[in-house]
Amino acid sequence: MSCSLVFTGPRAMHDRVEALLQRLSGRVDSNAVLRDADIGPGYRRDATDGEGAPPLLLMRPRDTAQLADMLSACNALGLPVVIQGGRTGLSGGARSLPGEVALSMERMNAVGPVDALAGHVIAEAGAPLETVQQIANAAGFLLGVDIGSRGTATIGGNVACNAGGIRVLRYGMFRAQVLGLEVALADGAVLSSLRGLAKDNSGYDLSQVFVGSEGTLGVVARACLKLHPAPRVEMNALVALPSLDAALALLSRLRARLGLILSAFEIVFPPVYEGAVGVSASRAPLANGAGCYAIIEMQGQDEAHDGAAFEAALMQAMEEGLVDDAILSRSIADMQAIWKLRDDCSEFIFTMDKVAGFDISVPLAGMQTFLDAATARIRSLDPDARFYVFGHLGDGNLHYLVQSDAGAPLARAVYEEVASAGGSISAEHGIGLDKKNWLPLMRTEMEMDAMRRLKRAFDPNLILNRGRIFDMPDLRAGGNR
Ligand SMILES: Cc1cc2nc3c(=O)[nH]c(=O)nc-3n(C[C@H](O)[C@H](O)[C@H](O)COP(=O)(O)OP(=O)(O)OC[C@H]3O[C@@H](n4cnc5c(N)ncnc54)[C@H](O)[C@@H]3O)c2cc1C
Repeated sequence: MSCSLVFTGPRAMHDRVEALLQRLSGRVDSNAVLRDADIGPGYRRDATDGEGAPPLLLMRPRDTAQLADMLSACNALGLPVVIQGGRTGLSGGARSLPGEVALSMERMNAVGPVDALAGHVIAEAGAPLETVQQIANAAGFLLGVDIGSRGTATIGGNVACNAGGIRVLRYGMFRAQVLGLEVALADGAVLSSLRGLAKDNSGYDLSQVFVGSEGTLGVVARACLKLHPAPRVEMNALVALPSLDAALALLSRLRARLGLILSAFEIVFPPVYEGAVGVSASRAPLANGAGCYAIIEMQGQDEAHDGAAFEAALMQAMEEGLVDDAILSRSIADMQAIWKLRDDCSEFIFTMDKVAGFDISVPLAGMQTFLDAATARIRSLDPDARFYVFGHLGDGNLHYLVQSDAGAPLARAVYEEVASAGGSISAEHGIGLDKKNWLPLMRTEMEMDAMRRLKRAFDPNLILNRGRIFDMPDLRAGGNR
C-alpha cells in the first residue's frame, strides 16, 4: 500500500498517533502500547552516548500477528518506526529520532524446544542471546555466537546486526547460525521460513537478505538457529607475547596445528589489559609490560587428545620464543576467570571519557602497517592522543579506541587509513545512524544504488528504521529520509 498522508506539523502527527491507537484498539492487548510518561527514558537510546528523542508511542507486540497488525497500521498512516531489541547496539541504530514510534520486541521472548535430531532451535526475536545459549547448553548443544552483551542483546538484534563476537573463527558470524527467519515486512506481510532445512535452493534465500540489514528491510519476529554439538573438552589460555607479529605467527601456527578445535583468538594491547585488570580490582594474572596479550580457546570432542594437543602447541610456541608467558585453564572456574578478563576489557572501555571508538577490520598481513599509519596520522592531529586497542584477532577485527580532543578529523583519519589498508569501517557493529557518512568509503555508487533499490522494494513508504545505514532520496519532498 502506498502512503497517502504527507508529513506536516505536530497537529497532523498527533492525529496520526490517535489514528494508530484507534486502528490497534481491540486488536492488541492493553500492555501492547504505551505512551507518554509510561515510556521510560531507556527507549530513546542504545549503548552509544547519543540521546534520542522521546518516541511518539511504544509498541510491544506479543506475537507475530500483533507485530504485523502494528506495522500495517503504521505503514498505512506513514508513521516511521524504530525497531528495538536489547538496545545494546553500538551504532545508534535503535536510538529514536524525532517523530518515530518505537517498536520493542521485548515481549516476544519465547525459545525452543531444541530439536535435538536436527540440531536447531526456534527463538522469538526478543529472547536474550544468553537465554538461548543456556537452553542450547541444557540440551547438549552450543550456539556458535557469544558476545559481551549476551545478557541483554536479543536474537533479533543479533540477526539485524549480524553479530560476531569471540568465536567467529570457529563458527562464523550470526549469519552462519541462521537457518531461516520469520520476518514482518513494513506493510504487515509475513515471510516465514522456519523449517530449518540445511539445504534449500528453491529460489532466493530471503532470510539471509535480512541478516545484517539493521532493521531497514523488515522486522525479525522469529529465527531458526543452527546449534553445534557442545564441546566435550574446552580449555583456554591467557598468554603474553613480545609483539603483534608474534601474535599473528602464533595464530597462524595454532590454526595449522589445531584446525577446527581452535575456537577463539582474542588480542588485548597493554593499555586495555591494564585497564581491564583495574576494573576487576584483582592482581594482574600475567605481569604488565608485554608487547600484547592474547586469550586463546580450544573446544574439542576428543577428551583424550584435544587438551593435550592445545597444551603442546602452546608449549612449543613458548620454546620458540613466540610466547613469553602463559596461564592455562585447569578448570571451568579458571576458564571463566580468563574470559571475564575479556569482558572486563569492554567494561573498562565504557568507564572512559572522551573516547572515540571504531569497530574495524583490516587484513591480517597489513595490520601492523595500518596501526603505524593510523597512529602517526592521529598524533599529527593530537600529539597527546592515547590508544586503546583490543579485539578479535582471529577475524582481523580490532576495537580501536582513541582518547583525544581531536574531534571530527579523528574519525576521518581512522576511516581513511582503514580504507587504504583494504579493511572495513564496521566489522560487526553495523552502520546505524552514526557511521553512515563514512559508508561511501566502503561501497561503490552502484552498490549504494542497489541497496537503495532493495530498501524501496521491501519498504516503499520508508517507515522502517529510516535514515539508518544510508539516507533515501525523498521522492516527494526533494530531500532525504
Ligand atoms: C558490552 C558490549 C559488548 C558487545 N560485544 C559485541 C561483540 O563482541 N560483537 C558484536 O557483534 N556486537 C557486540 N556488541 C554490540 C551489540 O550488543 C550487538 O550489535 C547486538 O547484536 C545488538 O543486539 P540488541 O538486541 O541489543 O539490538 P539493538 O541495539 O536493540 O538494535 C540494533 C539494531 O538492530 C535493529 N533491530 C533490533 N531488533 C530487531 C528485530 N527484531 N528486527 C529487525 N531489526 C532489529 C535495531 O533497529 C538496530 O538497528 C556489544 C555491545 C556491548 C554493549
